[in-house]
Amino acid sequence: MVKTLTQEQIFKKATMRPSKRKRQPVVLAEKDVTEILLQLYDKKLSGPHHFYFQNEHGMPIGKIPTEVGPDSIYCTVANSNVFSGHDWVHTRKPNGFKGKVWPPTRLAHLIGSPKVTERCICGETKACDCTQKLFSDHLLEYWINQILIRPVPGRGFGAFARKRIEVHNIVGEYTGQVSPQNPSLSDEETQYHTEVSIGEAVTSKVTTWIDATRTGSVTRFFNHSCKPNCKFWEGRCGTGSRVVYVEALRNIKPAEELTLDYGDEWFTDPAHPCLCGQRNCKNPPGRDLIEVDEHGSPDNTEEDDDTESEDEQPRKKKTRR
Ligand SMILES: [Zn+2]
Ligand SMILES: [Zn+2]
Repeated sequence: MVKTLTQEQIFKKATMRPSKRKRQPVVLAEKDVTEILLQLYDKKLSGPHHFYFQNEHGMPIGKIPTEVGPDSIYCTVANSNVFSGHDWVHTRKPNGFKGKVWPPTRLAHLIGSPKVTERCICGETKACDCTQKLFSDHLLEYWINQILIRPVPGRGFGAFARKRIEVHNIVGEYTGQVSPQNPSLSDEETQYHTEVSIGEAVTSKVTTWIDATRTGSVTRFFNHSCKPNCKFWEGRCGTGSRVVYVEALRNIKPAEELTLDYGDEWFTDPAHPCLCGQRNCKNPPGRDLIEVDEHGSPDNTEEDDDTESEDEQPRKKKTRR
């Protein structure tokens, strides 16, 4: 039996020092870099699959650590949502939950079987051929070809366009561990969480969490911006599942950072300013200093007056919290 390579072995082989090879060019052709990335994130590799940050050409440089409280962990790649029945055994059925099985023992009990009249990721509100498998395979390839993960000074890591991204492209699914909501967790602990509707009716407004702290997709690296170029949406994927996904709000040029609006409750604390650098930033650095100088009278809390004209599309906006 052929033993499958691990991600670490692929990484070591790809990044071997040029001096050890004969006259290798320092910068590889784009297609060769893509080939290395396809191997690095190949679903068939054995062992855990982690995220690697890249140089501007896309070459992987190192494994990305995530700070979780006092610990540093390596988040794993989730090509679709992860579910453990164990998390739900002692949970109370939420008011308004429309599903039939509680506690849920499969993901489909929570976010499966959406009505065909819900909007699908393909735009249909009637039967279509979409499946979670086709969607996640497409998005894995899209990520590798179109998106880079790079360090961002002061903000950890971010996602950047490797090639031009067209408006309305679905750039990724927000995946993670689907977990019960826990109001006692702090903002810090829920920074990689977003909401997804549960039960059969998307209109029920009953939600649970997709937690991308320990497992997720490239979209977990999308930083907040007060003038984002991407947006969360929720929709069905065929009739087998409901997904939270990220769509481009406009054409995005190569090397531009991909950003999302995390919602109004983010970055309202002057002690934790937003570093998006946009002119309409809701919480720019230095706001706390102004407030101290002026005896704590916060005079320029201009919310809402310069935000995007949004929701011309009928789909539901997701806020991340
Ligand atoms: Zn579809
Ligand atoms: Zn901002």
